[in-house]
Amino acid sequence: MATTLNAVVTHRIEVASGLIILRVAPDDWELPAWESGQFAVLGLPESAPRTMLSDPEPENTTDSKGQASDKLIRRAYSIASTPEEATYLEFYITLVHSGALTPRLFALKPGDPVFLGKKISGMFSLDDVPEGNNLVLVGTGTGLAPYMSMLRSELECHLDLHTVVLLGARHSWDLGYRGELIAMQRYCQTFHYIPVISRPEQEILKWSGQTGYVQDLWDRGLVEMAMGIKPRPDSTHVLLCGNPGMIEGMIERLGQEGFAEGTRQKPGQVHAEKYW
Ligand SMILES: Cc1cc2nc3c(=O)[nH]c(=O)nc-3n(C[C@H](O)[C@H](O)[C@H](O)COP(=O)(O)OP(=O)(O)OC[C@H]3O[C@@H](n4cnc5c(N)ncnc54)[C@H](O)[C@@H]3O)c2cc1C
Repeated sequence: MATTLNAVVTHRIEVASGLIILRVAPDDWELPAWESGQFAVLGLPESAPRTMLSDPEPENTTDSKGQASDKLIRRAYSIASTPEEATYLEFYITLVHSGALTPRLFALKPGDPVFLGKKISGMFSLDDVPEGNNLVLVGTGTGLAPYMSMLRSELECHLDLHTVVLLGARHSWDLGYRGELIAMQRYCQTFHYIPVISRPEQEILKWSGQTGYVQDLWDRGLVEMAMGIKPRPDSTHVLLCGNPGMIEGMIERLGQEGFAEGTRQKPGQVHAEKYW
């Protein structure tokens, strides 16, 4: 197993209960070149311990002697760090309590070994967004990860082009990277960060921001209000990342306003990455 776990956890940041930022560095090998928006594969063996926060191990993952196997569990994770950072990759991960891998990733601490796939893949990038377009980045939860990479590395502050981040979470404390996004907003007047929470009744301090789901913000015209102009397909591209329900809801709304989802055969103004 020692040869399979080819990377090491360098940082573990607890964002909120069930939300972590993990930095993973290759152990004696070099990261390949990659671009913002892409994902890497993390893995741990079935024998790795699960965090106490998660559901217990389902019984069918043990062998006849009741031992968990060394079979590697692998899953895709969008990279939140910038490609310029050659020594580690940063991931923003939510705990799926009943899941196979995330309960094991949540048990990791700095110095622990982990599997990191040597291939970095994915088509979700700014490559298909022609220059001169406004950009609306819509995400739920950890669907913010690829946008953090894009914002940290590729986006410039243009006076006449807007970038809007619409981010949905259950609670205000689940809004990861909030300080960094607010700082970006302070430095760039055409960058707009609009978080929305869906469980305002559970807030400890009264939440004065938007409530509901990201789709509601689109319906309420929040993007238009932020940009000062109506987002139209001839001048705006929309990226969608995270919960498939949100992505389907947004594609339907955007379709009614003339936006089309890009495919390999036909370019469009909507680009989506579903997490499950
Ligand atoms: C291209 C790509 C990039 C991804 N990037 C990220 C990322 O940056 N951060 C991240 O946390 N996850 C990301 N995921 C999801 C990730 O690959 C795993 O599916 C997730 O971590 C659950 O793994 P698991 O083994 O614990 O759960 P599994 O045992 O595989 O259970 C899967 C079930 O968990 C639920 N689920 C999966 N992902 C989530 C989620 N993010 N939030 C809530 N419920 C979920 C769904 O119901 C799904 O059917 C990405 C997926 C893809 C395809």
